[in-house]
Amino acid sequence: MSTKAYAAQSATSPLAPWSLDRREPGPHDVQIEILYCGVCHSDLHTARDEWGGTIYPCVPGHEIVGRITKVGNHVKRFKAGDLAAVGCMVDSCRKCDNCKQGLEQYCRNGMVGTYNGREKATGANTYGGYSKQIVVTEDFALTISDKQPLEAVAPLLCAGITTYSPLKYWEIGKGHKVAILGLGGLGHMGVKLAASFGAEVTMLSHSPSKEADAKRLGAHNFVLTSDASQAKKMNGYFDFILDTVSAEHDYNMYMNMLNTNGIMVCVGAPPTPAQIPAFNLILGRKSLGGSLIGGIPETQEMLDYCATNNIVSDVEVIDIKNINESYERMLNGDVKYRFVIDMATL
Ligand code: NAP
Ligand code: ZN
Ligand code: ZN
Repeated sequence: MSTKAYAAQSATSPLAPWSLDRREPGPHDVQIEILYCGVCHSDLHTARDEWGGTIYPCVPGHEIVGRITKVGNHVKRFKAGDLAAVGCMVDSCRKCDNCKQGLEQYCRNGMVGTYNGREKATGANTYGGYSKQIVVTEDFALTISDKQPLEAVAPLLCAGITTYSPLKYWEIGKGHKVAILGLGGLGHMGVKLAASFGAEVTMLSHSPSKEADAKRLGAHNFVLTSDASQAKKMNGYFDFILDTVSAEHDYNMYMNMLNTNGIMVCVGAPPTPAQIPAFNLILGRKSLGGSLIGGIPETQEMLDYCATNNIVSDVEVIDIKNINESYERMLNGDVKYRFVIDMATL
């Protein structure tokens, strides 16, 4: 089945119209007409091969919401006409200990990314949500509420789960002093979720223009990290820092802001490695951790939580023709706070 899409043909070529083939739905597959797809900074890192390992042509997009158009004859949870969503993964081995615990993102045999992954059966490159249709096993399709605006639900599939999962794993809630570092797609969901869990939330941002928004999103405090005197005042303050920054930055400055026993968790994935002296962990028994998206059961739990608590993303809906310009704006921090492609424009 031929499907319209937008693809990067190389690390230096802009995204442009392309057409790709989707498989016919097998017995356990659902076919989804994509209505909206969020634009994650990982799409940009991958399209431009900033992490290495990009397979071209590359069709990014892993914040997918749409409507089921066809189901295989063994599909149990969906029927044609239902809403459905797909996040960052479309498959995993489903047999290893991590998969069995619902931690498919840490599959011992490698999860299959929604784009730039290798299909288990054929080894073929996977193509993401900057396209009209996707076919996926029902086990990796999520259900979403019909009560929330679909375009604002789309970013929950990556930005939402990537911030929800570490906040849950480290049991963040009332009584914790939490900082969200970087107010972009992930950061704005981190603020909303951490505040909804009852934590005291501080936004650490290098953009002075974002203070009012940070507070509107639920942050109790705002610290301008480019102002050394403001930053220094936070030394020793936080129990937990969630680092969502996409570009090179000084981790040590933020490790200093942790209280004794404090934890900093990286979800932002800058292409350049960080330098951290062991003493910055030793003094104060501090921890530095990381977290990758979330498993399928937890992603469903997060979607249900957001539906119940009326949490969605703040989005700017774009025409797919403007995707390259949107990448530039994202790099300049000029997005409030997630671009979402209206797939009717493709
Ligand atoms: P984004 O919308 O572009 O937000 C990134 C934010 O980082 C910016 O808004 C900015 O916030 C801050 N920032 C950017 N450049 C900076 C610099 N030079 N110094 C300091 N701060 C800077 O990106 P996103 O979609 O939220 O993604 C963020 C990162 O998370 C990316 O690296 C992405 O690949 C990664 N990611 C990881 C996972 C995972 O599973 N771990 C999942 C999705 C995405 P301020 O203006 O407020 O400073
Ligand atoms: Zn993402
Ligand atoms: Zn596995």
